[in-house]
Amino acid sequence: MMGKREIMTIMDSDAVPHNGAHSVTERLAELNGDMDEINRVKRRYPMKISRYYLDLIKEKDDPIWRQAVPSIEELGDNFNLEDPLEEEEHTPVPYLVHKYPDRVLLLVSSMCAMYCRFCTRKRKVGRVKQIPLEDVFKAIEYIRDHKEVRDVVVSGGDPLTRTDRELEEILKRLRDIPHIDIIRIGTRMPCVQPSRVTPRLVNMLKRYHPLFMNIHFNHPDEITPESSAALGLLADAGIPLGSQTVLLKGVNDDPNVMMDLMQKLIKCRVKPYYVYQCDLVKGVDHFRTPVETGIEIMRSIQGFTSGLCLPHFVIDGPGGKVPISPQYVKDITPDQIIITNFMNNLYSYPGVLRKEDRQLFNKNVRRVGIALNLKKSLYKNDRFDKYAEFDDLDTINAIRKALEGAGYEVVLLEADKDFIFSLKDSNVDFVFNIAEGIHGESRESHVPAILEMFNIPYSGSGVLTQAITLNKSRKKEILDYYHIKTPRWQVFKNTNQKLNPNLRFPMIVKPDAEGSSVGITNESLVFDIVSLKKQVSKVLKEYDQPALVEEFITGREFTVSLLGNPPKVLPIVEVNFDHLPENIHRFDSWEAKWIFDNPDSPVDPIICPAVIKPKLKAQIEKVARMTFEKLGCVDMARIDIRLDSEGVPHVLDVNALPGLMPDPKMNSRFPKSCYAAGMSYDDIILTILNSALKRYNLHLDPVKSRARARRNGLPIEAGTDVTKSLDEPTAQAP
Ligand SMILES: *Cc1c(COP(=O)(O)O)cnc(C)c1O
Ligand code: SF4
Repeated sequence: MMGKREIMTIMDSDAVPHNGAHSVTERLAELNGDMDEINRVKRRYPMKISRYYLDLIKEKDDPIWRQAVPSIEELGDNFNLEDPLEEEEHTPVPYLVHKYPDRVLLLVSSMCAMYCRFCTRKRKVGRVKQIPLEDVFKAIEYIRDHKEVRDVVVSGGDPLTRTDRELEEILKRLRDIPHIDIIRIGTRMPCVQPSRVTPRLVNMLKRYHPLFMNIHFNHPDEITPESSAALGLLADAGIPLGSQTVLLKGVNDDPNVMMDLMQKLIKCRVKPYYVYQCDLVKGVDHFRTPVETGIEIMRSIQGFTSGLCLPHFVIDGPGGKVPISPQYVKDITPDQIIITNFMNNLYSYPGVLRKEDRQLFNKNVRRVGIALNLKKSLYKNDRFDKYAEFDDLDTINAIRKALEGAGYEVVLLEADKDFIFSLKDSNVDFVFNIAEGIHGESRESHVPAILEMFNIPYSGSGVLTQAITLNKSRKKEILDYYHIKTPRWQVFKNTNQKLNPNLRFPMIVKPDAEGSSVGITNESLVFDIVSLKKQVSKVLKEYDQPALVEEFITGREFTVSLLGNPPKVLPIVEVNFDHLPENIHRFDSWEAKWIFDNPDSPVDPIICPAVIKPKLKAQIEKVARMTFEKLGCVDMARIDIRLDSEGVPHVLDVNALPGLMPDPKMNSRFPKSCYAAGMSYDDIILTILNSALKRYNLHLDPVKSRARARRNGLPIEAGTDVTKSLDEPTAQAP
């Protein structure tokens, strides 16, 4: 019989050869069984216990008792199903189940030597007469007609309830079919009635090799001298023996019991084959264990004893048997697999990499992610400039269009708390980074840091540069170190700090770590200590960060955009303050940048290219290039420079993630310089991208991308280095 999958009939109820001893009922009563309950259950699910198995019971409710003696709990199960494996649906002819491609289950008997209380075919108990042999032969005809079947599992009930002669008749017919490779007999007889295994039976069986036998044991106490002898006879006849075990609560749901059973089986030359999770059979719910129990049992065997003792733990169901294993694989990447052994130690095993995979990155960049922080609408209590740095949809769409036009697939990646997850899912080869970051004093460095962790190449400056350029005082310290001029300064961490007596008024008070003129208003320019303290305290409170106090220098102000590696200096922007009303100071305050400079303003506050003499221009460019290099910028940066009263260029600020608003009317200064150099918006984006790709030694597949661009109807040549034409700036000195 196939372990728990046998059909039983109530042919002879609890009739057992008496051998002069008392009956089964007497014995159960003697063991303090509740005979009322047993009799009640018997009427629904009949009882049959072999004399031999009955004698294995040591006490009431021990593992042998639980398997054989009816329990009142069988009646309380209204949850489970009559036929959980849906075998009836895979029965093309009576007594044959054809569920798998090359093997079938042939039911040759509806009887057993004992009715196991947990049997999968409990539904048939007492309702089915012994299967007529002619019907078995008809089922064998089905097998003969199905050439794909090469393996027959002979089961029931218990096939060994058939006489030797009947059994031989069945085996002979099966062996007669040329396409049958192996025959397997599933039986519980060696366990519940070992005397059935006789030399005569064994001599008959061995004439039908290759013949396998799957026997069914659930507890070490079932391995007795008698059952061992029966198994020995079978093994000596060259019949490979496999075991099947049902995981049963109160019987074997314990790692030590299971290991003991497996070790005893292997000593009897039985190879543990399957341990089944208990099926959802009506009347057996009290035997069910959590699946985790089975997994833990498997874990307690693997590695701790001979691998020969290791069965497969399976859940059987309408879809067939599914192996359930403890998880030994912790992670798989192309480079390696991380595994644990039975002692829970971690090991790594290197992957087999194809030659092209050995490179750090995928050389052919196809999918490009845009890491961004979309401008949000402000809530009531939000600071008015909270999202000044974030990008609007126009910018994001324009970047996307440029990349798609060049043949890339584009994925938008909002750099919020879900960034890591969307990044992992996106499968991008490269990230075009414009994300300003959402929290923290080094927020612009977060996306680069995450991308480096994931080993994904990206455009723009790296972690350290992004962090430093966002911090005005750290940035000025570095400039100072390299003798790059910057206005003298002092950092205030509280209002009690003494002002450095070397600093001269007027001064500007700014938040130490903001961009886009955030926190710099007309009032930030202070002429005395009282207003200085007031502004410092405002910055400390409203921007929750130290205040930078800087001497105000009074000369012309410029913005220099740099693009590429090493950078080309684009046409310089001069910031024109002439349009500002009298009461607004002449510097790049929030008001100057965002209020008095808007698309409707009659005066152009941005002069590009700036009108400057070649000598000054060369000076400014030199300072900008040095700043770019010393701060470790790559691909692009925007540097704000102001002349002092003597006309000497000083660096005011560096932005490694300059705004990229496409609309020229928005006066986004970096694009403005690029336009002045004759570039289109797409040129800007692709030049940034190509500069980055070159740094990583990456390229895109030009043939494919051009074809893709043509399909998209966007005939843009990808890979064009537009900055090549920038060596001759268009700015003309007067
Ligand atoms: C278990 C089973 C088999 C045999 O499956 P194996 O995994 O090869 O042992 C065949 N048919 C049915 C219906 C079964 O339930
Ligand atoms: S031996 Fe037990 S498990 Fe197997 S079919 Fe018979 S009753 Fe069911």
